[in-house]
Amino acid sequence: VIWCERAWLGGPDLADAVAIELDGDRIASVRPGAEPAGERLAGVTLPGFANAHSHAFQRLLRGRTQRGRGSFWTWREAMYAAAATLDPDGYRELATAVFAEMVAAGITLVGEFHYVHHDPDGKPYADPNAMGRAVIEAAASAGVRLTLLDTCYLHGGIGTELAGAQRRFGDGSVETWALRVAALDDGPRLRIGAAAHSVRALAPDELAAVAEAARGRPLHAHVSEQPRENEECLAAYGRTPVQVLADAGCLDGDFTAIHATHTTESLPRVCLCPTTERDLADGVGRPAGPFALGSDSNAVIDPFEEARAVELDQRLVTGERGHHEPEDLLAALTATGYAALGWDGGALRAGALADLVTVDLGSVRLRDAEDVVGSLVYAAHPADVGRVMVGGEWIR
Ligand SMILES: [Zn+2]
Repeated sequence: VIWCERAWLGGPDLADAVAIELDGDRIASVRPGAEPAGERLAGVTLPGFANAHSHAFQRLLRGRTQRGRGSFWTWREAMYAAAATLDPDGYRELATAVFAEMVAAGITLVGEFHYVHHDPDGKPYADPNAMGRAVIEAAASAGVRLTLLDTCYLHGGIGTELAGAQRRFGDGSVETWALRVAALDDGPRLRIGAAAHSVRALAPDELAAVAEAARGRPLHAHVSEQPRENEECLAAYGRTPVQVLADAGCLDGDFTAIHATHTTESLPRVCLCPTTERDLADGVGRPAGPFALGSDSNAVIDPFEEARAVELDQRLVTGERGHHEPEDLLAALTATGYAALGWDGGALRAGALADLVTVDLGSVRLRDAEDVVGSLVYAAHPADVGRVMVGGEWIR
């Protein structure tokens, strides 16, 4: 049993004196107003945060691409150059550091949208999953729960072959991709999911084959991050990216659309990555339904900032406040992110995975907070994160 001074069980208020009984890697019961017993946790206890969209290797670009002019498309060239430098050992080391930074920020689950599969010439390593296994081992070292969204990526753009650094992303066909991914197994803290890179990287029939192969697993895809993707897609297919994905059956399963910045259609679930979207001058998305959050390029790893940015960016665009309540932004960071990555967690309730974090309410940022839930979203910083538990085990 652990006993929390205060805990966020959902809604705008905190519960006091909450006893959480653990059973293996899950929560057996949650009782507010309990007498102190077992391990005592100070501050506020929350479900652990889900980082629903990460490219760990893009951490290499931090501090290298922020200065100067350009667009998403010029940034993409720098990203390709970074991707060209990786090998499995170097990737394991890099991803371990990135995931450790995530844990320190209260992230207990990461969705790694993984497409750097093969050697720089596009040839498979002796183990064709060497790069994916490097990511899996990195997550295990850091202690974080992982959904590996193994990505099918076959074209450099609509009707364009993979070229240069992109060659290592490609498996040649959906069948070869699916066979390679089939050699990876789930584990206690590992789920193998799937991703279709985008309508730029896969033709409609290939998207349909990926959707078919991904049945029963989370499926993610980048969608309309840039207006140019919409224009190219409309020109090639006479349909928007969302329509192409829907016609291919991608939206029928457990689907999450990444970014969805320039869409007007409704989607079952999206994942916003505000710190990256602002860095790349993508625009401001306006989610109509449930949304998760992701650190994407990992130039910044701060779940609180991702959460508050959803609301604050809307304020700048609309001239109005109050689009999302703080507790809804916390739900995006927790329950919706867990759902997007295929795990039953992200909430302090009986039956959920025992993944949780504590936040220090005595820090200079949070001291004397009256509306603690509002202050968590609008003032907290990763430095305020205290303990971190994954699957009933303290990892920090
Ligand atoms: Zn991405």
